[in-house]
Amino acid sequence: MINHNRPSLGQEEIDAAAAVIRSNYLVSSEQIERFENEFCDYLGLDHGSAVVTSTGTSALFLALLALDAKSKKVAFPSYVCSALRNAVALASGNEVLLDIEKNGPNIDIEALNKSKPDIAIIPHLYGQPVTLDKIDKDILIIEDCCQSIGGTYKSKSLGTIGDIGIFSFYATKLLTSGGQGGMVVSKDKSKIAKIKDYLDFDGRVEQANRFGFPMTEMQAAIGRVQLKKLNGFLSRRKEIFHEYESAGLNMMKSVPGSIYYRSVMYSENPVSVIEKLKQNDIKAIVPIEDWEILGKKEDFPNALRMSKNTVSLPCYPSLTDAELEKIIKVLR
Ligand SMILES: *Cc1c(COP(=O)(O)O)cnc(C)c1O
Repeated sequence: MINHNRPSLGQEEIDAAAAVIRSNYLVSSEQIERFENEFCDYLGLDHGSAVVTSTGTSALFLALLALDAKSKKVAFPSYVCSALRNAVALASGNEVLLDIEKNGPNIDIEALNKSKPDIAIIPHLYGQPVTLDKIDKDILIIEDCCQSIGGTYKSKSLGTIGDIGIFSFYATKLLTSGGQGGMVVSKDKSKIAKIKDYLDFDGRVEQANRFGFPMTEMQAAIGRVQLKKLNGFLSRRKEIFHEYESAGLNMMKSVPGSIYYRSVMYSENPVSVIEKLKQNDIKAIVPIEDWEILGKKEDFPNALRMSKNTVSLPCYPSLTDAELEKIIKVLR
């Protein structure tokens, strides 16, 4: 079976995890600090501009908290995973769901500006950077980079342009810290300090509501190894996408600065394409199904159309040339 997605872990990750177990330092120590600093280096931020979390969802919750989101209007697209809606429900309670643009997977910026939210969560979906310059300047921006680590907008790293950036290190994301994990970054170090204060709940003299969403040392050690491999991962993904494209498949166009988290193909009939691939032991999926659209799907015609004519093809670093050839042969 050729899976739709697969983590890419090897001996280096095994060694890094084992070294942590041998060290007996399991929480809040050197590996986490190094992971945060190396992540800052990768994005071109000063040290101290990042904090690890348990998941991408908790990173988003904490980002909202750092922007004092309680009761504030928070806008985000309906065509995205439910993590966004859940984090907004917890941290703000005042959601504004919006459609996506006509010819791409990202938020409709005109509709966003018109809705006049206090905060916007902007996913760079499938690795495609949003045109951030077009967003009204008085809207606070959380860049959701769970699918776009390593992407750029006007030569700047995604996640460093808005007020806050969030990342996920789930098993099948661009890099994994061993199954789950996340990160919040901000050029404004006071926001990171605020989040660190919130996370550090134990034994505090100054009483306040706080909550832990921790990453372990072992996770950070695995994440560090994966971060070193990230550029190699990204170039293999790009290669795979271009193979699909040059085979004449109707792929979703990428924009400058994109990375290739998904290889999305347009099709009039995704169900039959997926079935045909399945008969050949290849797993493809509809990246976001119509029933996954947040809110009432009829209110979001572009999202609905996208959900009905897209197929996500296998695209991950450990996909072999032979597997790729087979997928292309079946699709042709
Ligand atoms: C995966 C993902 C999340 C949530 O990350 P978790 O680590 O699974 O909590 C949020 N936003 C987007 C765009 C994602 O792809």
